[in-house]
Amino acid sequence: MSTAFYSHSDCRLHDMGPGHPECPQRLDAISDHLRSTGLDIALDFRDAPEATHEQLERAHTTGYVNQITDVLEQVRLAGQSKALDPDTLACPHTLQAALRAAGAAVAATDDVLSGRARNAFCAVRPPGHHATRDEAMGFCFFNNVAVAARHALDVHGLSRVAIVDFDVHHGNGTEDIIAGDERVLMVSFFQHPLYPYSGAVPKGTNMVNVPLPPYTRGPAMREAVERQWLPALEAFRPEMVFVSAGFDAHREDDLGQMGLVEADYAWITERLVDVATRHAQGRIVSCLEGGYHLGALARSVAAHLRALADQ
Ligand SMILES: [Zn+2]
Repeated sequence: MSTAFYSHSDCRLHDMGPGHPECPQRLDAISDHLRSTGLDIALDFRDAPEATHEQLERAHTTGYVNQITDVLEQVRLAGQSKALDPDTLACPHTLQAALRAAGAAVAATDDVLSGRARNAFCAVRPPGHHATRDEAMGFCFFNNVAVAARHALDVHGLSRVAIVDFDVHHGNGTEDIIAGDERVLMVSFFQHPLYPYSGAVPKGTNMVNVPLPPYTRGPAMREAVERQWLPALEAFRPEMVFVSAGFDAHREDDLGQMGLVEADYAWITERLVDVATRHAQGRIVSCLEGGYHLGALARSVAAHLRALADQ
């Protein structure tokens, strides 16, 4: 069975303006690099469907889904971008992109649980892990990973799923959504202090938050993962593993000050594949979050995919 690679051309049309780091070229850099390295041959490319309101409401309030959909639909009709916060802009294509991004995670979950793929990576934007139950923020509109995790639990009837977040920023939105949902174990590390300045004190007993100081490099990160993530994941025995795969803790990325390299992303992914193989029949769905240095992003995604696809 193959590794599915979900994306959609609509995800490229979401554009927050010149100079914004969360730019369409991120997806181009990833696909160009996969082709130039030949790794594309090992992947099964699939087009993301749009998420439905019912799917989104498993992670977000009905009021928020209606309100943000209205705002994004008005922006689409007006044909003019609108700032939702200083970092987060909606353009006329944002609604379609955001629905495809969450829809990719849901479809990938269906594929992996039905055996149509061994595991899956969603190369989508906008990212999701800062979107809370009822707020868009930090470049995020819908929480793609949380929507997919709830889909696995509520629709497919799984009992325990893990969410692993290695973006340099704390996944405050995911934490907001799943804190107290004991069917989910969230493990993450993030630079602290850094936007959104949360996470040092976990909001629930079902999360393992590992704040790391600026300039943390691979060896210290690996030690923290071995000491804090892996025992918790072993004890939890997840039936499926979801990944908020942000690559902005890379040493070349200017949005954080951490010092990870491609080999560190390969190492993390291999550990997660081990956990998934032991407990979850290998089932992993990984969704792109951050990663803003185009070259480092492309190489790091390739390292992640090579470990997922066993290449
Ligand atoms: Zn980030």
